[in-house]
Amino acid sequence: MTRPPVVLSIAGSDPSGGAGIQADLKTFSALGAYGCAAMTALTAQSTQGVTGIHVVPADFVRSQVETLVADVRLDAVKIGMLAAADVADTVSALIPSLRCPVVLDPVMVSTSGSRLLDEDAMAAVRRLVPLASVITPNLPEAAELLGGPVATSVGEMRAQARALLDDVGAQRVLLKGGHGNGPESVDVWADSSSTVELTAPRVDTANTHGTGCTLSSAIAPLRPAYDEWLPAVRAAKVWLTGALQAADELSIGQGAGPVHH
Ligand code: PLP
Repeated sequence: MTRPPVVLSIAGSDPSGGAGIQADLKTFSALGAYGCAAMTALTAQSTQGVTGIHVVPADFVRSQVETLVADVRLDAVKIGMLAAADVADTVSALIPSLRCPVVLDPVMVSTSGSRLLDEDAMAAVRRLVPLASVITPNLPEAAELLGGPVATSVGEMRAQARALLDDVGAQRVLLKGGHGNGPESVDVWADSSSTVELTAPRVDTANTHGTGCTLSSAIAPLRPAYDEWLPAVRAAKVWLTGALQAADELSIGQGAGPVHH
């Protein structure tokens, strides 16, 4: 009998399968982990956008996680869409019971422009940030967390990644530059000892739905195989680049299709 890394996603559902819980579970499987999932919200969603959100009551989010951790030992957790302030605060209170590394993707707005986090939930997400082992904001999310402008250069990204450590209390940051321009996709890693740029060729595909979720969710199942975070993050980025390069093999829906998990 084998026991692969057991990874829990606490996130929202995307019925189109490109983002959210569905993307997380596919990513965990592709990377050899056993995926578990607790849902914070249901979305009505296709490759063309989000048409509705139904938030799971915070107490029931707690029940899902408590029931699971009473039985299953977790090796890593990824937190995605939190939807509402009381859900975010409930997840914060659950962190000590998880007893494993936690990757927090501070999901706020979908690429198609729908809010996935209530405006008044920002303070709750900021409270959660210092409790996570690593946070993985994209450029607009970093700007919202810092209450400043969106970074437009790698130099500004480096400064914002450090500010997320120093001013918002993050333990480690992967600032995802996928929303930027240029021939390369540059992410910035920052922890207490270093600030490092991670580069990969920018992949030319329209099928980018869920790219940010997928990079964050690749880190969680890879972390148990490495002693440190940075090699796991580098491996996750290499894997995501392959998933983007293969994305055009899939033809799903009429909008922005998914990456190839
Ligand atoms: N839907 C859900 C449930 C998500 O968790 C996310 C991102 O985390 C999205 C949609 C957004 O994906 P995208 O920005 O690729 O549209």
